[in-house]
This record gives sequence, structure tokens and C-alpha cells, in this order.
Amino acid sequence: MLTSFDWIRRCRSGAELLATLALLETNSLNFPYPSSPGYKSLGPPLTLCERPCRRCWIYAPVKLEPPWLCQTCMQVVTESGERHWRRASTQSVVVWGTVNHIPKTILAGQSSGVEVLGRHVYDSNHFLLILYRKDLLTWLKELAIYDSDRLAGLLQIFPPAQDRHEAGFASLFSLAVALNDPHQMDQFRIHLHPRPYYLLQSKMRKQLDSRNLSLTESIQLLEMVKAIRSIFGPREQEQLLDLARMNVGQERQFYWGRFVGNISPEARNFLEIWQLRHWSLERFKLLYDLKPYMVDFTS
Ligand SMILES: [Zn+2]
Repeated sequence: MLTSFDWIRRCRSGAELLATLALLETNSLNFPYPSSPGYKSLGPPLTLCERPCRRCWIYAPVKLEPPWLCQTCMQVVTESGERHWRRASTQSVVVWGTVNHIPKTILAGQSSGVEVLGRHVYDSNHFLLILYRKDLLTWLKELAIYDSDRLAGLLQIFPPAQDRHEAGFASLFSLAVALNDPHQMDQFRIHLHPRPYYLLQSKMRKQLDSRNLSLTESIQLLEMVKAIRSIFGPREQEQLLDLARMNVGQERQFYWGRFVGNISPEARNFLEIWQLRHWSLERFKLLYDLKPYMVDFTS
């Protein structure tokens, strides 16, 4: 029989994940156990005329016709089609934690300034949390206040996949679980994945491994991204990245001076305080990779 976590891992999109977590939270997911009212036995092997459920590939479909789904999968798919789950999914981030203990904010089930969209505590060392992207910074700050002194392990943070495709959420999530090394509990690290598919590409994963962030660094970078998005216009943000790409020399000095002369006093102060002129291209890229995390959907 599939466990709660097995059903979570079978989700093919962020909306399905949110719907599954909500159904599990309220104990209203119809598990296909023999004692359940709508129990259906294991599905038949795949043949020309018969097949098991096309989502879980284990249980018998409710009807021998499309969409060939068992009762539980049908419930998840129907619920995930609700507009609020689809909308919330596009604005959310997934946090998968492998830690030495579950943070207090997770155990409490809620935190003061953050709306938790979904939550699952797998065991005493693993948890899953879904938040709005705009709440991630606040949640990390709460983590720093209440849990940072004793917390060790790794947080993998990534936006959920939106489409149901072959390399869908099931693959992404299984990989995120597999990538956590339970033996590295000597420090607390965070991987902020800019795109969900980065997890599936070994080259991108290696790049992220070299970007091990501490909790303080993650908060600082997200604060900076937030400031850049509010102080600089879209065109100015592009120009700033173009300047970072230029080789050090007289030409760069000229263009940098011209850029500084055309921006607002507030933006000039920001550049001066953070000394962005001396930042490496790699650090700029990291900063710009995090831009999707700071989209404000409330406006
Ligand atoms: Zn199924």
C-alpha cells in the first residue's frame, strides 16, 4: 500500500502537490485501503484492453476508459484543478529540509507573518513546506530568530513544476530527497534553485553545490534582490548586469560612470553602500538568479 509520502511523491505538478497536502491535512484523501468505502483492488497489468491507473500505475481505474484513474488519483486530480490551487502553485516555493531536528516554526504548523500553503513532516529529520515566494524571506528570518543556533543540515528550495510532464514533479521531488546527504550535519546550508529543472541537470546541480549559502547569506541576498527590484527599473537592472559582464578597463569605467549619472540618488546610494561596482560576475549572476523569489504578487 502506498503511504502518505508515496502519494506526495506521485504529484506531477505544484497544484497536485498542494491539493494532496491539503487532503492529507484534513484526513480527506480517500486511500485505497481495504477498509475504505470505495476500495478498489490492485489494477490489472498493462495490456491492450486493460491497464492500471495511469497516474499511480498500481490501483484499478474507477472506469475502464479515459482518464484511467483510480479513486485516489481522481480525487487529487479533480481537487488540483481548482483555480486557487493552480494560482497558488505559480506563486509558491517548495522547501525540502534534511535537518538534525524539525524547526519550531514547522512543528507549530504556522508562523506569525507567513501563510503556509502546505506542510508535511516525514520524520524527525525531514520535512516539506510550501510557501508563497513573497513569504520566503520572512520565513527565513523567523528561522534565524527561533532555530538557527542549533539547526544543521540542508534546505533545498525550488519553485514547483507547473506542467504535468514526463520529468515532472515526481522526478524533481524524488531527486531533491535523494540529493540530501544525511551525514553532512555539521553545518546549516541552503540551496536556492532558481528553476525547478536545475535539479534534473547535473551541470546546474554542480554549480549550485558551489553556491552553498548560509542562512545569513540567503537572507542578505534576498534582501538585496528585493531592494534592487524596488529601486531599479527593469531597463536599469539589465544595464547593471551588462556592466558586470564587461571586462575591467577604461571602457567599463566610462559606461559605469554614465550609468551612475543617469540613475536616481537612492539608486546611487545603494550602489555605493553595497559596493556593487566591485562585485564579481558570478556574484551578480547569483543575485539575478534569485529574482523570481522576490516577485510581489500582492500588488
Ligand atoms: Zn491511481
